[in-house]
Formats: sequence, structure tokens, C-alpha cells
Amino acid sequence: MDIAEIPAVPEWLTEHLRDQGIESLYPPQAEAVERGVTQGENLVAAIPTASGKTLIATLAMLSSVDRGGKALYIVPLRALASEKQEEFAEFEAYGLDVGVTTGNYESEGGWLAGKDIIVATSEKVDSLVRNDAPWLDDLSCVVTDEVHLVDDGERGPTLEVTLAKLRSLNPDLQTVALSATIGNADKLADWLDAELVDSDWRPIDLKKGVHYGDALQLEDGSQKRLAVDRNEEQTAAVVRDTLAEEGSTLVFVNSRKNAEAAARRLANTTGKAVTGEEEERLAEIAAEIRDVSDTDTSADLADAVEKGAAFHHAGLSREHRSLVEEGFRDRLIKVVCATPTLAAGVNTPSRRVVVRDWRRYDGTAGGMQPLSVLEVHQMMGRAGRPGRDPYGEAVLVASSHDELDELFERYVWADPEPVRSKLAAEPALRTHILATVASGFARSREGLLDFLDGTLYAEQTADRRRLETVVDDVIAYLDVNGFLEQTAEGLSATNLGHTVSRLYLDPMSAAEIIDGLEDGEPTPLGLYHLVCRTPDMYQLYLRSGEDEEYTMLAYEREDELLGAAPSEFEDGFEDWLSALKTARLLEDWASELDEDEITETYGIGPGDIRGKVDTAQWLLGAAESLAAELDLGVGSQIREARLRVEHGVREELVDLAGVRGVGRKRARRLYDAGIEDRTQLREADKSVVLAALRGREKTAENILENAGHRNPSMDAVDADEETAAQAREADATEETADDQANLGDF
Ligand code: ADP
Repeated sequence: MDIAEIPAVPEWLTEHLRDQGIESLYPPQAEAVERGVTQGENLVAAIPTASGKTLIATLAMLSSVDRGGKALYIVPLRALASEKQEEFAEFEAYGLDVGVTTGNYESEGGWLAGKDIIVATSEKVDSLVRNDAPWLDDLSCVVTDEVHLVDDGERGPTLEVTLAKLRSLNPDLQTVALSATIGNADKLADWLDAELVDSDWRPIDLKKGVHYGDALQLEDGSQKRLAVDRNEEQTAAVVRDTLAEEGSTLVFVNSRKNAEAAARRLANTTGKAVTGEEEERLAEIAAEIRDVSDTDTSADLADAVEKGAAFHHAGLSREHRSLVEEGFRDRLIKVVCATPTLAAGVNTPSRRVVVRDWRRYDGTAGGMQPLSVLEVHQMMGRAGRPGRDPYGEAVLVASSHDELDELFERYVWADPEPVRSKLAAEPALRTHILATVASGFARSREGLLDFLDGTLYAEQTADRRRLETVVDDVIAYLDVNGFLEQTAEGLSATNLGHTVSRLYLDPMSAAEIIDGLEDGEPTPLGLYHLVCRTPDMYQLYLRSGEDEEYTMLAYEREDELLGAAPSEFEDGFEDWLSALKTARLLEDWASELDEDEITETYGIGPGDIRGKVDTAQWLLGAAESLAAELDLGVGSQIREARLRVEHGVREELVDLAGVRGVGRKRARRLYDAGIEDRTQLREADKSVVLAALRGREKTAENILENAGHRNPSMDAVDADEETAAQAREADATEETADDQANLGDF
């Protein structure tokens, strides 16, 4: 279908698509249009990675907005939200307003009312529904990216319930759901009352195969010689072979550590293939990577990039990730070793894909488990760059003849599994039942069951009694903990229940926090431990031998730990210790320990500190609200612990570090120069400020302006000599003299 023939889209679109080199629709896109996606029809599009799903979404949203409506695009990961927003921001040239919202759960996002297209995660949308964001009533089109993730045990239920709520709020809402190819797309279409486009079409041929011995065996029965040198790993041989054809390779492995190790090793292979000019450009990228942060992860990444290899995983900061993606797209970086987490969303096609690990550690199963066909096919789908490569090749790696056969059976010839709702799990229902009652979607047990009838779970379950039993258990739990009341009229949320739902807390987290706060005078460590114990925090794992270390710590600081402690022989003890480890990380961060020291001590990446800090900040904010609601009189202690962890500073720096642009290191430098708080900064001698900030005029001006200084200009200001001398001395004693302001700079 020629793009000029698409009905009901804004006039400017044809020209705009032409400018992007899009002349006609891909077949699945044309089918979506024929099924009415630009005319308000619901649609499920289950098509392979890289087959142009985004354009289907765009067509739906633009036509809907053109009719005077408002569109919402739901992404599965925070990391993808800003990426999508940047993509849609190009429509601002035509007068559309595009916004993204990923921020705090409790903010209600009133500013979004004026936007035409809004990008958000499903958790954020769920929270907006709970907070009654009024503009939700104006939505005319909702697009869900990667809807097959309803199958995800942790996040799927939120997506499922959120879609059901949006649809029940507004029965005329157009629902467009984009999915990978799955076994039961028709069921998703039934659930959403949608038309279905279910297709295997790809813009570029994909050949799947398995490498074994000295050969690459492809699914069509053909074989290619692909010899492995002595002392060479198979993956390296594939990379070398691809380089010989001037192609790049994306290697999927099963953990962050493995991604880093593989990149380090494969750098030896790529290093031999980069040219002199490429070397220079790679060195520039490496320098930018080092500038982002001064951690080991950053240094390791830069070292690999210098030789044309890189790793990519969710422990990296956003800046690191974009530098890697850009370098790969510009064909300077020849190999990227990645974990599957971000693979689905990030648009980094390559000539070849190697799925090196097809098993991954799974804590719930207590061992290595094979990846799903769906996941492996999604990774494989990244192979082949349309317009550049004749075809893409996706390769699994076998180390024995038996494994070769198994991989063909299990992945190459297999169909992806069907998607199944995970809503019936208790933690999911606990959260969503409270929210559904609190936001008035249901006012009785029957109403609740009726609402749940609009979910995929109901679509897939013939046995309504099973759902009823779980629902009854959950209602009882919420009642006992004071979140819900059962009366003759039906169900209603208590004030506390409303607060918990608005705060987006798992009710079990709220119960745990309240119990701990009732225990007395909290210290920062006690509070960090308390929030780290809740099911809303991902705890750090205990490495072997650490049990003892943290058991000792638990005894030493027993007085500070809130609530009842499990005995060493109880089941929950290990989790309780993991929470203590996580809490000590937060305490170290809030005691101004260097970032690289923390990453080393805890064996994590800089992005992980950020993640823990964000979650702790949110949970402590929630604890503050709960303390206020219940009049527990510990608000100021919680606030201090929260601000310290937010800025990563000791108590005396909280005020200074709160000035925009200051951050933990600069706050300490200003403090050491005698400027102790925001007021003093506003009145400060500019030459002292400049010296404390190591002579950086722009930084100094910026900070003074943010502090509200009358005249922040640094023109004709000289750094104060005495302060500068002190600063030099301090830098000399500091191991790593960087100028990293705070985590927000990542
Ligand atoms: P998916 O979301 O399905 O993985 P994308 O929507 O990111 O895939 O599309 C992959 C690439 O194909 C993008 O670079 C996009 O610009 C391009 N593309 C999409 N539709 C067309 C088309 N009809 N003609 C040419 N290129 C297209």
C-alpha cells in the first residue's frame, strides 16, 4: 500500500514519511490499515521484531489525535520511555505536543492534560489511574508495546489490570496492542475485542542456525564452513567470520558479568580488525564513556570500546547505553555483548546475532533454566539490517552433537509459546484489589469479580471458583491489616487503604513499614533496613561467606533494627540479612563513600546504586506519608534519612546538596571551604566559591544562580588563594580526583 492511500491520517504525514525514506507500507502495516487501525478500530498486531510495529502505533495515534483525541503509549521499561518520546517528538514540528511521564508514582501529572501523545510505563499509568488523573477520561487511543509481557509474573498483572481499567473508564477507547509473534495472539485479540494481524513477515530474511564444530548449520539444511582456531571460542570465531564480511555481531549472554567478560575477550578479536581512523574515533567514544563516571564498569567499558567491542546491560547508565548504541549503529563498535533485558526495545540491528547462552539462572527454580522460545526468537530477530545486509543470520552455539540436535528442536524449529495471564498470583491481586476498590472501580465482592472479568485472566480461565477463592483470601488479608472494610453495603477502602493505594505500595510493604515505625526511635540504618525488607525493594544477594559478616553486623547494630527479627534458624532470616546488606549500601552512600568503592564492595554497577537509591527514596517518602497518616511522630527522622539517601550525603550537607547542580562532592567541597548551607551560599564570597569548585567558572555561576545569588557572574573573579591551596591539598589526598557531581549526572 502506498503511503498516500492511508485513510484518516493528518495531511502532512505522507510528506513526512517520504522524507524518512518510507514510500509504501510493509505488508503487516498495510493489513493493519485495512483492518481499520487509522479509523478507530481495536487491533492486536503480533509480528516479528523489526517489522515496523512502531509505525502501526504511530498511524493509530496520529489519526486519533487528528480527530481531536489524545493518545497514550505504554512502554514496558522506563529505559524505553525517553527513547520513544524522542521518536515521537518529531511530530512537534506539526503542532503536536508530546510528553513523557516516568517520575514519582505519587505525582498526579496534571501537566499532561495539555499533551496530545503521552508516553508512560504501565506502572505509571496504573498510578495515574489510582490518583484519578482527570485527563484519562479524554484518552481516545491507547497503544501497548510488547503486550506479550502480560505473561511476566512480576509486571504482567499491572499491565493487564491497567488496560482493563482504561477500557472500563472509557468504553470507546481504541486499544492497539503490539506483540512479538506468540502462540495465541488470537486470545489477546479476543480479550481486547480487537482485529488481529498475526504475521511472520520480515523486511529482511532471517536464517536461524546452530554452530557446532567447524560448521554453521542453517535451518534450510544448508551448511557453511566456519572454522574455530586453536584456543579460540566458538563465539569469537563467529565474530571473526562476520568481520571478514565487514559485518557486526550482537552477542546475547545470560548475566551482566558474562556480558562484561565476553566483551573483554571479544575485544581481542575486534581489535585486530579496526582501522587507524576507526581507532581514533573509538578512542573518542571511550573518552566520553570515562567522562560519564569514574567506576570500574565505566573503565572496563571504555577499555573494550577502544578495541571495537562493548557490553550493554541494565546496570549501565543511560549515557553509557546510548554511547554504545550509537557507536554500534555507526559501525565503529563491531560487537556488543548484551543481556536480554533491553534487547526487545532497543533498535540495534546487526548482521549476525549470536545467542551464546540459552540457559539462565532462575532463583525461583533454584538453578539454570532454559530461556523461552519467545525470548530467543526476539533476540534472533535483531539480525539483519534492512537496506544494508542481504539477510540476517541468528546463531545458537552447541558444544556437542546432542546439544546441536536439542537446539534445533527447542528453538530453531519451535514456535513461540502461548502467553498466559499471571494475575491470579497473590501478591499481584493484593495490590490490584486494594487499588480497584480504593479508586471506586468496584464497591463489593461481586463488583470486584465483575471487574476482573474484563481481564485476560478471566478470558483464559474457565474455573471462576479458583479466582473467587484467591479474591476472598486477599480481601481477608486487606481487612485484617486495616486497608479495607467489609460492611453490609459492600467493600470500601479505609483512609489508610486509600493512602497505600495512592502511594503505589504493595499492601504487604505498607503493613511491614507501619509495624516497624511503631517500634520507636528510628535511625537511618534502621529505616533503610525497614524499607529494604519490603517486597517493593529488590535486595542484593548474599555472596558465599557473607551470611556470617551480616549476622555479625545484625548483632552489632541490633538496637537500630526495627520490628521483630527472625531467628537465625527461621526461613526468612536469609532475606532479612540480604535486606541488611542492601541497607548498609544505602548507609554507605549516605555517608559519602565514593561511588567506585561502593560498586566494588557490593559487586554491582553504578546503575544499580541509582536503582536502589530511587526505590529507597520512594519507599521512605511513602513511609513519611504513612507516619503522618497514623500520627506516629517520626516524620522528621524519616525525612532526614530520605534526603541523605537522595543526595548521598551526611546530615550536615543535606541543605547544600539540595541546590540544583551541587550534588554530593561539590557540597562537601563548599562545606570544607566554610560555606555550610544554602543561605551562606547565596551570600558567599564568589572567589571562595570559585576556588572551592576548582576554578570552574561555568559551574560556579550556574550553582550561584540556582542558589539565588544576586549577581552570579564570575567575570573578573579570581579564585581565592587560601581556599585553592586547601583544595589542592584535599585533591592530592583523595585517590580519585574527579568532578562528578552526583548520581543524577549519570
Ligand atoms: P519493531 O518495533 O517492529 O521492532 P520498528 O518499528 O522499530 O520495528 O521498525 C524497524 C525499522 O524499520 C525502523 O528503522 C523503521 O524506520 C523502519 N520501517 C518501518 N516501516 C517501514 C516501511 N514501511 N518502509 C521502510 N522502512 C520502515
